[in-house]
Amino acid sequence: MRYVSTRNNSKEYNFEDVFIKGLADDGGLYVPTSIKKYSIEELSKLKNLNYNELSTEIINQFSSDFISRDELSSLIKKSYSTFREKEVVKISSVGELKLLELFHGPTLAFKDIAMQFIGNLYEYYLSKNDKKINIIVATSGDTGAAAIDAIKGKSNLNIFVLHPNNRISSVQRKIMTTVEETNVFNIAIDGNFDDCQNIVKEMFSDLDFSKSINMSGVNSINWARIITQAVYYFYSYFKLEKDIVSFSVPTGNFGDVFAGYLAKKMGLPIDKLIVATNENDILHRAISKGDYVSKEVKETISPSMDIQLASNFERLIYYINNSDSEITANIMNKIKQNSYHIEKNNLDKIQKDFISETCNERETLEIIKKKYEENNIVLDPHTAVGVGAAGKLFFNDCIVLSTAHPCKFPDATINAINKHEKLPKELQHVIDKEENFKVLNNNVKEIKNFIESKV
Ligand SMILES: *Cc1c(COP(=O)(O)O)cnc(C)c1O
Repeated sequence: MRYVSTRNNSKEYNFEDVFIKGLADDGGLYVPTSIKKYSIEELSKLKNLNYNELSTEIINQFSSDFISRDELSSLIKKSYSTFREKEVVKISSVGELKLLELFHGPTLAFKDIAMQFIGNLYEYYLSKNDKKINIIVATSGDTGAAAIDAIKGKSNLNIFVLHPNNRISSVQRKIMTTVEETNVFNIAIDGNFDDCQNIVKEMFSDLDFSKSINMSGVNSINWARIITQAVYYFYSYFKLEKDIVSFSVPTGNFGDVFAGYLAKKMGLPIDKLIVATNENDILHRAISKGDYVSKEVKETISPSMDIQLASNFERLIYYINNSDSEITANIMNKIKQNSYHIEKNNLDKIQKDFISETCNERETLEIIKKKYEENNIVLDPHTAVGVGAAGKLFFNDCIVLSTAHPCKFPDATINAINKHEKLPKELQHVIDKEENFKVLNNNVKEIKNFIESKV
């Protein structure tokens, strides 16, 4: 499979470039030059595959120049062997709605599904390349935990995770900071999540630094994450046995919902993808009326969606502009100057596949309360936004992606229903275990020095 950058499609890359580098040198995101489209007949042959077999089938469409189908299959088996559900994900009901539970991995959020696979993909790559790689990632809580669990203890890999000091839930922090493996480094930055992200971006663009330490990234723009996430759209579609389905997706960086768009491009009969946002509603304003102007980030009870500029939206811009990288690069420039309004014809195209809604803090808490009282189920605040958005749009029988286990966000559930969920027994040990992290100033030089002293 060949890939190009969304900002310059005259140069081609292979899966190895795409996976290891994450971001193209021109600042664009990687996209494949072609996408396999399954016919209804072909789809019906995939219907009875188990989760691991289906993952192998879908991911192999994009990675066969990098890893053979057999090796991929065993790598996937290994990646999901630690999940608490044998079939990796689980489908449950809240009234007419279906919940696609994606939080049964080691760190209780959907990000484990892609990250466990990616950790093993690095290991596979390093078994064939004599190198040491340093992964550096900024997190508002869930990405860091999932990445640490996936990378810990792997040889020739270090992971440095930057989180905003005192601004993530203590459960989120403890899952990251109680890990004992010596290749894991937690850094708490005196600043917010944007500061963390900016530091990582700055280190990536300092080529002397990033090349000298073989820096690599695992954030949500990595194509390997997207293709891994497309799998559960197929899986849940097959399990529901309907002709066509819609999905409601709690959204931050537009990664998870873009995976649904990819599944639709691959032929999966999806009607609408509901983009559900919290009060950081730029994607809702964009999709409902074309307004893609960012505002200050607000801190909410669904912190993993507290994002203004959604990186993966660039991929959608590329596709709705008929894969024209010049137009995409121009639009990205406008976005940089915070002056982009989506053109009418493009907005029409977006609205064929997407619809959006937003839930504020009060609405999110009310949903948690209502679903607890009516259905005796405790939703985490991110999932509650997805459920709330589907409700506001009267999509009463869609599939809502349930992105985190409610025990990870006790403040929200205590506030809504005066109750918090217990951690699964596999994770209870983190509560009393000693934490290990370094607090550093919001200063790139200081953080580079720290990293250099550890590699
Ligand atoms: C990361 C995350 C999201 C948002 O996913 P994106 O791919 O960034 O849109 C939603 N819910 C939870 C629990 C998350 O961790």
